[in-house]
Amino acid sequence: MNLKCPVCGKPLVRKENSLVCENRHTFDFAKSGYVNLFPSSSSSHGDNREMRKARTAFLNTGSYRFLREYLEGVLSKKDGVFLDLGCGEGYYTSAMPQKEKYGFDLSKEMITYASKHDRSTRYIVASIFDLPVFDACADAVLTCFAPCSEAEIQRILKDDGIFVFVSPGRRHLRELKDVLYDTVYDNETEQRFSSLSMVREEVISAPFSLENEMLWNLFLMTPYYYRTGEKGKQRLRDIASMSVTAEFLIRIYTK
Ligand SMILES: [Zn+2]
Repeated sequence: MNLKCPVCGKPLVRKENSLVCENRHTFDFAKSGYVNLFPSSSSSHGDNREMRKARTAFLNTGSYRFLREYLEGVLSKKDGVFLDLGCGEGYYTSAMPQKEKYGFDLSKEMITYASKHDRSTRYIVASIFDLPVFDACADAVLTCFAPCSEAEIQRILKDDGIFVFVSPGRRHLRELKDVLYDTVYDNETEQRFSSLSMVREEVISAPFSLENEMLWNLFLMTPYYYRTGEKGKQRLRDIASMSVTAEFLIRIYTK
C-alpha cells in the first residue's frame, strides 16, 4: 500500500531511507524504523515518556492480554491491509495476524517504542483525523481506546472491510474509581457510528490484581489521572494491593 504525502496528497514511494512523492516532498525513516508524516515540527504531541513507561509496565503484567487475544481472534478472519489508529506502543498492533500492518499515532514517544519492538508493522507519526492513506485502502481497521473520526473510517475502509472499535465498558476499572471518588458513575458508552452498520457488539471482562506501584501505573494510563483530586490520589497511594476488573466494549462495523 502506498502512503499519501501529507503536503500535496500524491503517493509516496520508497527511495533509499526516505519516502518521497513526485513533488519531492521527502520524509526520512527514523533510526528505529518509523516515519513522521505529521506536518508540524512540534514534538510535544501525544503521550510523553513517563506515560509511555507506565503503560508499558502495566501492559507487561498481562492484565489486558485477554483483550489482545480476543482482537487477534476477531481480526484473524480478515486478511489484507490492517490499520491501527491510535496504536500507542503497538501492544495490540504487534499481535495482529495480517502481513501488511500500519500503526498510526501522534505520539513520537509511543511510535519510537513501537517501531523498536515490533518489526512486523510500519509505524507512522500522523493524525488519526487526517490519515496519510488513500481512500478505500483498508481491509481491517482497529481503534482501541483512542478517539475516532467516523468520516475517516468511511473514507479509508474498503467496501467489504471491517472496523473494530474498543472502548471502556460501563464498569471498566470500577474498583479503582471507588477508591478515587466519593461518588462513582458508570462510564458512558454512547459513541455510535450512524453511517456504519454494526455487525456485532460484545462486552468482555476479567479481573486482575495489582500491587501499589502497578496500580499507580494503571492510574496514569487512564483519563482519571487528570480528573482526580489530591485526596483521591492519596487514597490510591495508600493501597498495598487490590483486585480490579477490566471491562471492554467491542463493536464491529462494516460500511
Ligand atoms: Zn508531496
